[in-house]
Amino acid sequence: VPHESTAFDIVVLPGDGIGPEITAAAVDVLHAVGARHDRDFRFHRHLIGGAAIDATGEALPAATLDAAQRADAVLLGAVGGPKWSDPKAPVQPEQGLLAIRKAMGLYANLRPVAPHPAALGASPIKPHLLNGVDMIVVRELTGGVYFGEKTRTATTASDLCEYSVAEIERVVRRACTLARTRRGKVTSVDKANVLETSRLWRETATRVVADEFPDITLEHQLVDSMAMHLLSRPRDYDVVVTENMFGDILTDEASMLAGSLGLLPSASLGEGRAGLYEPIHGSAPDIAGRGIANPYATILSAALLLRHSLGLEQEARCIEDAVSAALDAGVFTADLAPQGQAVSTREATAAVLAQLD
Ligand code: ATP
Ligand code: MG
Repeated sequence: VPHESTAFDIVVLPGDGIGPEITAAAVDVLHAVGARHDRDFRFHRHLIGGAAIDATGEALPAATLDAAQRADAVLLGAVGGPKWSDPKAPVQPEQGLLAIRKAMGLYANLRPVAPHPAALGASPIKPHLLNGVDMIVVRELTGGVYFGEKTRTATTASDLCEYSVAEIERVVRRACTLARTRRGKVTSVDKANVLETSRLWRETATRVVADEFPDITLEHQLVDSMAMHLLSRPRDYDVVVTENMFGDILTDEASMLAGSLGLLPSASLGEGRAGLYEPIHGSAPDIAGRGIANPYATILSAALLLRHSLGLEQEARCIEDAVSAALDAGVFTADLAPQGQAVSTREATAAVLAQLD
């Protein structure tokens, strides 16, 4: 469904470390794509994380949250770094990220994993297993054991794992809707042989697909065997949907299929169209300010933003094709390049911009 208006408000949250460098790259690319397709993208920069703590004392200032809640989409760099890492400090940069996700009601985290042929050598997995891998992991983001009640006595500890039918339904629907735009297959991952929440998960997923998505092929997989199959037959997966903690673990595992952290984008989505888009990597303080960070993950996050929040599929593809062409041409930043062959963040961005033409 095309957006009614051609003006789009995009909130940009550079954050910390390499955040400002990589979001600047993605904004340049969005600008260029917008100009070519006659789209009016309006960028609004705001503070989050350590940069916000330095300026205001808060990791998520009210002005930032307010702008994010009114925007069509949010593009984020990364937050955190050694300057703010004292655990005794009153505020941590990461709290800003948790707070904005919660306030925006973002319950589904999408991580596409499609290793690029030119970058297969960067993965620890054998190239012949990676050819043709193209999956999206949809991780539930608001429930499960991470948010359950925690108790502690001198000799015991417990974390409650809880899910409601409504929480499972909405994320399964999101996965199925996504699968309809792809190969029509959904793999639901649980531990239904031992966990009650997983039995509810499995029953709910089965019912949602039977009632609302009869065209989707649903398979159930236990999380332990999934951990193995992700590495032994990653080609078999299209859309993978799972609860919060399993998704946390499996998405880090899946990221290794693509080689570098610097290539992987993500989208966090809620009930409406608005979403938050960020690379899966962190603020990389070890290389911040040197102009050598890989901008591709953030540029690809901008493509996801166009696709999922603005409904601009054609423009999203343009960006993805341009990054792909830059990789094909061997335009690699230091995380991907052999010694001495690396280009800078700006050169990699310029290569993507040149490929848009
Ligand atoms: P977080 O806890 O925020 O996820 P992290 O501790 O996982 O952060 P990252 O900031 O992701 O760490 O960095 C991990 C390593 O990967 C670092 O050596 C960093 O320099 C490198 N790295 C991360 N992102 C990029 C990038 N875009 N380009 C190049 N190298 C990167
Ligand atoms: Mg990390």
